[in-house]
Amino acid sequence: MNDTFTFSQGSVPLLISVPHAGLRLTEAVGRGLVEPARGLPDTDWHIPRLYDFAQALGASVLVAEYSRFVIDLNRPDDDKPLYAGATTGLYPDTLFDGTPLFQPGQVPAAQQRAHYLERVWRPYHQQIASELARLREIHGYALLWDAHSICSHVPRLFDGKLPDFNLGTFNNASCAPELAGRLEQVCAEAQGYSHVLNGRFKGGHITRHYGDPAHDIHAVQLELGQATYMNEQPPFDYRPALAEPTREVLRRLLEAALAWGRETYPR
Ligand SMILES: [Zn+2]
Repeated sequence: MNDTFTFSQGSVPLLISVPHAGLRLTEAVGRGLVEPARGLPDTDWHIPRLYDFAQALGASVLVAEYSRFVIDLNRPDDDKPLYAGATTGLYPDTLFDGTPLFQPGQVPAAQQRAHYLERVWRPYHQQIASELARLREIHGYALLWDAHSICSHVPRLFDGKLPDFNLGTFNNASCAPELAGRLEQVCAEAQGYSHVLNGRFKGGHITRHYGDPAHDIHAVQLELGQATYMNEQPPFDYRPALAEPTREVLRRLLEAALAWGRETYPR
């Protein structure tokens, strides 16, 4: 048993990964946070609720329990920076806005952080790897959807307002370009929403590491602007009436990915 994530196995060749929605803290991290960090402002809020239709589509769903303030599952274990310019690392030291995350002298010790790597980071990644291997074995291919969201305005990370749907395929290295094209088309047809492919967010470590289209594993990251479904200020509440049409676009995106898979890999 593992208490650092929840996993439900589905029946279609799609795994949804949710690495940043977790709210649990370790004792050391919880004790050390500065006041503005205690409400966990950089969480990918409500993502499991937003995607709660995905199990009915037959997708496998993997959801991390721990907050990114403990360890960031979408960073490589050697902590090489993902993006040029401002970013946050494997063990974040700041909030997105640059505020130090921990009170002076309260940064968790290296030994504790090494424990988080073994206890939280590795099991999550082992689960992604084993599920993708299982799906490819059964279906001949696997789709990985790394589901994220972020506040639409973070001046330290990007200028102005972020588009609503930010698709990342690591500049077409993590999935077949035809799949990315189908997804862009769904976004383009979604009235009232903006989108971009490989803009500010091109896909983090999960997308880059597991996406291997030459070996029939196609990975896509969606960084969703939080203004499409929630209040971006504390207490970060979910807004059902706002979220419903956004969920409909998410459903069409996942259905388009599965339809592309069925056409591209006929049985
Ligand atoms: Zn995220």
